[in-house]
Amino acid sequence: MLYDHILIRFGEISTKGRNRKQFITKLKRNIRFILKDFQNLTYSSTRDRFYITLNGQDPEPLVAPLKKVFGIQSFSVAAKCKSEMNEIKETALQAVRSQNPEGKTFKVSAKRADKTFPLDSTKLNYEIGRHILVNTNHLKVDVHHPDINLRVEVRKEAAYLTFHDHIGAAGLPAGTSGRAMLMLSGGIDSPVAGYLSLKRGLEIEVVHFFSPPYTNERAKQKVIDLTKQLTPYCGTINLHIVPFTKIQELIQKQVPENYTMTSTRRMMLQITDMIREKQQALAIITGESLGQVASQTLDSMYAINEVTSTPILRPLITMDKLEIIDIAKTIDTYGISSRPYEDCCTIFTPAAPKTKPKREKINRFESFVDFDSLLKEAVEQTEMIEITGQIRPQHTEIEDLL
Ligand code: ATP
Ligand code: MG
Repeated sequence: MLYDHILIRFGEISTKGRNRKQFITKLKRNIRFILKDFQNLTYSSTRDRFYITLNGQDPEPLVAPLKKVFGIQSFSVAAKCKSEMNEIKETALQAVRSQNPEGKTFKVSAKRADKTFPLDSTKLNYEIGRHILVNTNHLKVDVHHPDINLRVEVRKEAAYLTFHDHIGAAGLPAGTSGRAMLMLSGGIDSPVAGYLSLKRGLEIEVVHFFSPPYTNERAKQKVIDLTKQLTPYCGTINLHIVPFTKIQELIQKQVPENYTMTSTRRMMLQITDMIREKQQALAIITGESLGQVASQTLDSMYAINEVTSTPILRPLITMDKLEIIDIAKTIDTYGISSRPYEDCCTIFTPAAPKTKPKREKINRFESFVDFDSLLKEAVEQTEMIEITGQIRPQHTEIEDLL
């Protein structure tokens, strides 16, 4: 098989100095993980490239999974040959022939990465182009808008011939920026916040608050499916399911209605922070977007954030809802998030939550009862599930509901 390799170009990690090795090791691990079902593949790398040898595997089914690996700038299916002029010319000819070239135009774009190679790129272009022209019919050169652009990269160890670059997911390899806890609700926003955090190299664990019997098993399943939908980007994810009913009932009883939302968020944040400490993570991620709802005004964030000094990452803070929905659609979480099951906050949402809550007031309301022991109890009773693997495509999920 002529195209027996995939050539992978690293993105931003190329600039990472001393951490480079760690970045590349993680990237390789993530690539192997996502392609684990393709058992014929073998892997190798040089300083700035990663190569997959296909050993007979059709490259087509590898394209979609590879597009999900953060840290890849671009990749191409490639034909590999020795860095020797006659071999390069012959492989180039075969490569162009495989593109059904009759009546088409072409161009050769050679790059001499190995500066000791005797021909420079201009001479390479000329020699290879001439060999192709002499040995084919009805093929013309067009250097501006060619139908076929054959790229030839001559490196020390081998030469690689490619036609098309697939754009990679960019970002940083998952797991290179440290660990953070994602608060995942089942809504549209938080899965997108999780995806964007993974894109910046974070390793995530998920925390979900669950209030049976006010919320049912299908609401929990929704969160499991959303978490699964994020696993292709990073591998296994720990999902912590926190029983939240007692705390929510106590909030309803003790706190004036327009402050229940503020208090709920403060309790969630404290519990997440306790789980974070146990799991040795360094930050908390939420799907908040400034001004989207009452709990996401600056005054609300100020009142809620008081309970912890742990960094809270809010990747969506400046995004509009439509921008968030666009991302949710591309990562196939939108369909799952749109399932009609209520989460614990939706059910307890007061008719008129305070948009400008005051720290002094909420502290006073919360001081009349012992929330602390309930928070500890909730953490103790938290269930942890390891989520691995992908689920079926989104449309099947929706059909299931009909
Ligand atoms: P989302 O679409 O993520 O539910 P939202 O716009 O509905 O967000 P809120 O309900 O105010 O906003 O929630 C703000 C953030 O608080 C969520 O993005 C999420 O990070 C966290 N959160 C809310 N409810 C839960 C829950 N039941 N479990 C875990 N985290 C939650
Ligand atoms: Mg929500």
